[in-house]
Amino acid sequence: MNKFYKNRRISISLRLTAIHAVILSIILLIISILTINIVERVLMKEYKSEIKKVTEDVKKYIKSGKEINKDILQEVTLKDGIHLKIFGEDESLIFQNKLDTIEINIKEYNELDLIDLADDSRMEILYLNKVVFKENKKYYVQVAKKLDAYDAFLETLYVILVIMNIFGVIIAVISGIYLSRKILKPIEWITNTAKSISIHDLDERINVHGADDELKELGETFNDMIDRLQESFEREKQFVSDASHELRTPISVIQGYIDILDRWGKDDKEVLEESILEIKNETFNMKKLIEQLLFLARGDNKKYKLNYSEFYLNELIDDIVNETKMIDNKHTIINNVNGKVIINADFDAIKQVLRIIIDNSIKYTADHGDIFIESEKQNDYVEIRVKDTGIGIPKEEQPYIFDRFYRVDKSRSKDTGGSGVGLAIAKWIVKKHLGAIKVESELGKGTQIIIKLPINMY
Ligand code: ADP
Repeated sequence: MNKFYKNRRISISLRLTAIHAVILSIILLIISILTINIVERVLMKEYKSEIKKVTEDVKKYIKSGKEINKDILQEVTLKDGIHLKIFGEDESLIFQNKLDTIEINIKEYNELDLIDLADDSRMEILYLNKVVFKENKKYYVQVAKKLDAYDAFLETLYVILVIMNIFGVIIAVISGIYLSRKILKPIEWITNTAKSISIHDLDERINVHGADDELKELGETFNDMIDRLQESFEREKQFVSDASHELRTPISVIQGYIDILDRWGKDDKEVLEESILEIKNETFNMKKLIEQLLFLARGDNKKYKLNYSEFYLNELIDDIVNETKMIDNKHTIINNVNGKVIINADFDAIKQVLRIIIDNSIKYTADHGDIFIESEKQNDYVEIRVKDTGIGIPKEEQPYIFDRFYRVDKSRSKDTGGSGVGLAIAKWIVKKHLGAIKVESELGKGTQIIIKLPINMY
């Protein structure tokens, strides 16, 4: 189907050339027709005025009463190819200046008529018949001119113009093919590059050079698109590899406990209880991780839609503080600053962010440590601060803690069940709300996560 289509399609370069040639031919044709027409008119005007002038001269001569003298009249009509005949009243020929006469009826047309007449040789003749009266005597004057030179000239002009037109079209076709191929070359590069790019090899790029035109822009846009594709593909690959790695660990642990149970745990109550507890823990962690992964995947696919509503942020913080105090009695949760503020945001998503951050503070703060939760309205945004007195994060690691699967010290978060996804989710949600999230931390002293959320996004 594709091949069939390809064979039948007419290339842009061919189409451009054809259009170019047709337009040029039409222009040349119009110019040629105009040229011939103008030349014809100018020459004919010239001839006509020449004949009129000779006729007038002869008329004056006859009227002057001089004898119709051959020599004098010869002089008057000496001009190129002028045939003069003078007839008497009885239509008898009195005078003719040339031997090869042209036979034209002197009465056929009114005086002063000018016409073109074709004889057998298809040669055109221009003539003027005029009646001249002199003292009651009537003379017929006939001045004629063979237009052989004129016809020959026009014929040559036709030939020259036809040859010029043919040459013009040939040059138009050749230059059209050359130019369109040259101009469209980048499209060929883009096509070839696009063909050689596959999901396994996204390294290929179009060599963008030459004039800064639309095709260069197309090439650059194409390269940008492949950059983005490659980046997102790499991210996807990394995500899948990290996710499977994170899932492999709890599965291995569960498998290990099942093996123990299978071998000797069935009869040993202590081993049985420990194994069940561990399997429970690991299944819980795995469930949590899968939910987090699904959240990120939906976020990436733009399938996760935030549900905006107006609510009191201070009330949400109060609830979370109370909840945390109930679950965790090993730390002191302090919530002294909690300004009354209504925000327009996704209630569940903001709750999730706060839980992730407070969970971290609990995880990474030794027992009996203090955790401060504060919220304050500032201009058109609200600042939420969660500060702990825990182990802190080394300076050089701080820029990465919001990356997916990033854990500061793999071994330290192993016990806490963390997989490095929580802060990535928190950052995604905050960014979706057009807010900002940052970390301030000192190793061994504690960590503070600061979130800024616009009060009303609209
Ligand atoms: P995790 O589920 O591993 O906690 P997060 O994305 O929530 O993943 O955090 C990323 C890493 O940042 C954690 O592994 C931890 O090392 C570090 N971290 C986050 N919050 C704190 C904190 N309050 N104190 C110390 N380290 C923290």
